[in-house]
Amino acid sequence: VCDFEPGAIVSDACASYNTLEQLNEATHPYLHSLTQNTDFFSHYRLSLYSKKCPFWDDENGMCGNVACAVNTLDNEDDIPPVWRAKELGKLEGPTASHPGKKQQKEHKRNPLQGGLGEKVDESCVVEYDDECDDRDYCVPEDESATAKGDYVSLVDNPERFTGYSGVGANQVWEAIYRENCFSKAPKNNLGQSSVQSPFGGAPPLGGFGSQQQLKAANELRNVMKEQGLQQNVKSAIAKGSSTPLHDPVDFDDTCLEKRVFYRVVSGMHASISTHLCWDNLNQATGEWKPNLACYEHRLHKFPDRISNIYFNYALILRAVAKIKRHITDFSYCSEDPEQDLRTKNSVIRLASALPDGPEIFDETVMFRDPDAIALKEDFRNRFRNVSRIMDCVGCDKCRLWGKLQTNGYGTALKVLFEFDPEDSSKDPPLRRTELVALINTMHRLSHSLSAIKEFRHMIEERDGVP
Ligand code: FAD
Repeated sequence: VCDFEPGAIVSDACASYNTLEQLNEATHPYLHSLTQNTDFFSHYRLSLYSKKCPFWDDENGMCGNVACAVNTLDNEDDIPPVWRAKELGKLEGPTASHPGKKQQKEHKRNPLQGGLGEKVDESCVVEYDDECDDRDYCVPEDESATAKGDYVSLVDNPERFTGYSGVGANQVWEAIYRENCFSKAPKNNLGQSSVQSPFGGAPPLGGFGSQQQLKAANELRNVMKEQGLQQNVKSAIAKGSSTPLHDPVDFDDTCLEKRVFYRVVSGMHASISTHLCWDNLNQATGEWKPNLACYEHRLHKFPDRISNIYFNYALILRAVAKIKRHITDFSYCSEDPEQDLRTKNSVIRLASALPDGPEIFDETVMFRDPDAIALKEDFRNRFRNVSRIMDCVGCDKCRLWGKLQTNGYGTALKVLFEFDPEDSSKDPPLRRTELVALINTMHRLSHSLSAIKEFRHMIEERDGVP
């Protein structure tokens, strides 16, 4: 059962975790090459500084900015110099100026150059990035028509430990999880879609019927066995999440869609934690290296968080697979034909390594109940709010990667729930920034899976597990 079976329906945790790890091995080199070696995918445009936090007044030191985070490092004798946290969170390298004007002019001369599929005339044409669509799951980066944003090199500004923490960071996470408090439980939430999971084998986050509970227990047990964990399965399932900061969801009475919302957010949080533990600064020696204690403290003790990373990987993978044709037809127009060809070849290799069907993640089981339209709108609005909250992150580098990953998940949700596989003529446009965010978010998750595997080996070696 645990063997990797391409094309098989993933029906249990063992197969799904293995399958995802196998897929990760197969796709990681292409993702790595795309995100590190191509101009198109290694740069991102966003409004990094121009938007104010719309939810609270960060002028009053309530949360979220660098000063706020630094203020929480009270005991100056025990901590790295204050400047360090600030410096680590800063952006490095060129934040290139907006290249849009030249390309826009070129586009006006040759408006058919490049395109996302047949219907969407867009590629390097940045002015179209500003367009807003009701079906977006994120606030477009250029919501304010005046701000064109900054281009940032993602390679020069890797996501890693920055020292951003304390009240500011906590308040942002808390606000994000608060979005999960859907005010009105949809009727019929014990209906068919409530008990199916789009992610075949992932442990559900709560009990919902004895059979499911048993299955969840087995799945969690499998995950924990893989990770050598000793945690009590029953209590993990009963709690759904053992986190004290937020307790937004009563998982016993939660429909599938709300659980998915929670898992996306928690998986993103866990993935960010994995990266900052992997690329961690030993503040005593100044050395950058994986920090096992950080991993154990933030992730290893919480199998649900790890399972949410896998869940997100499956979700993103499915979304990328769904737009295979779009991305392989896309014109990457870097003005360097050789590089364009390399980019295209890597994209084609990545796309051909992805399974075609919904065997990894089946989004069609969601939003099927009678309340689906309202629920979907609620879901979409809440996710948009998560993207707005990113303007409250008080560390430049964290805000950059927080915004990018939120946009990546938002794009995946848009592709999954708004794109029609039968008739693409009414599909919403896919912006260049969305494509870059989607592929980079997949790469971030891929990196998380690899880092978790390495951390597990480190624990096994330390504990003398054969
Ligand atoms: P936090 O990670 O802040 O978590 C707060 C609480 O949430 C925990 O105590 C726990 O109760 C709960 N929780 C934790 N993880 C999960 C989960 N996966 N699912 C459910 N609940 C959970 N720091 C960096 O060094 N580098 C970065 O690039 C970076 N990017 C960030 C991006 C964003 C958007 C935000 C908001 C913060 C970022 N940070 C980054 C800060 C980092 O995420 C932590 O907030 C910080 O390291 C402090 O950690 P903590 O131990 O207080 O717990």
